[in-house]
Amino acid sequence: MKRPGPVKAYLIDIEGVLVRDKRYEPVPGAVGWMTSLVAAGRPFCLVSNNTTHRPGDLVDDLARVGFPVTESHLVGALGQGMRWLRDRNKGRIRWLGTTLLEDYWREEGFEIITGGSCDAVVLGANSGLKIRDLDSVLGPVLDEGTDLLCLHRNLFYLDESGRRRLGPGAWAAALEALGGAGQVVTVGKPSEGIYREGLKRVGVTPDEALFISDDPISDLVTAGRLGMRTAFVLSGKYPDHGVLARLEETEWPDIVCSRMSDLDIQEEETV
Ligand SMILES: [Mg+2]
Repeated sequence: MKRPGPVKAYLIDIEGVLVRDKRYEPVPGAVGWMTSLVAAGRPFCLVSNNTTHRPGDLVDDLARVGFPVTESHLVGALGQGMRWLRDRNKGRIRWLGTTLLEDYWREEGFEIITGGSCDAVVLGANSGLKIRDLDSVLGPVLDEGTDLLCLHRNLFYLDESGRRRLGPGAWAAALEALGGAGQVVTVGKPSEGIYREGLKRVGVTPDEALFISDDPISDLVTAGRLGMRTAFVLSGKYPDHGVLARLEETEWPDIVCSRMSDLDIQEEETV
């Protein structure tokens, strides 16, 4: 269970916390806060469900607007997914995420299959996904027991114009409901593995970490269950705390604030 004590490291969501949405405009105060965090010598990592950017491009975009981050700070759903596939020798995939990342998958040694059998159907955010794309994996999922790898299961996300778009969680729910014989695996938040990887990266135990996110449901429930302290910022998906009504009170975040710069880096006790 959560024990009050100093926050020694920070696990930080990107979209809605550092930047508003996929336009990558910084949340007011976020660049300064991150700079102070680095100056204070506090370890941190970015725990992201981003599946639309190459990891290098993602941190470059953040660095360009002033964030003191490098690829070594990033623990991402894309990387977790590639590891899951490699560990199981699944190199031939149906990629239902954005076409912008097809070359990246190939560079990383995967073969993108566009029809017929494959080793896994892989879901990521894709604002261009068509019903016919989903139809095209019915054979593998229903007839061949092909595994379904969900890089994350966010039900929606904010696109480049700040518009809400259905996310891979919605498509995963539809495909999972088919009841195919394959596994359905999620590697990004809210799955525990990516949180444990983040903790390993910053070298602390869960009770020494604060997880900051704009999504109390998809991101913070798991962090809290693992024993981390949690901060819900209102600078992203949800403009107020009304969303908490969808959670049990025991799942509520420890802190609710407008934006990350409202958090006191020197704070040493649970609020
Ligand atoms: Mg977010």
